[in-house]
Amino acid sequence: MTEPGWYFGFLCKKCGTSLPVERSDKAAADTGARAIAIGAWEIRCPACGLVDHYGGGGKAMTRMLIEEKEHHT
Ligand SMILES: [Zn+2]
Repeated sequence: MTEPGWYFGFLCKKCGTSLPVERSDKAAADTGARAIAIGAWEIRCPACGLVDHYGGGGKAMTRMLIEEKEHHT
């Protein structure tokens, strides 16, 4: 599961949902993105289910904020 925080990643080609790849503030994160080549990733969109490849050809990742879905107060 993706924890809240700042990530680098891509936007879904179908619905535009944020698809985080790696954290921008610390190294380890399990985002479900699968490396298929250097700088290229296979990612399944959690919103629409589209599985596609991102980042090939040197396309830069976008910095994005993943917000907390549940509030623990
Ligand atoms: Zn999508």
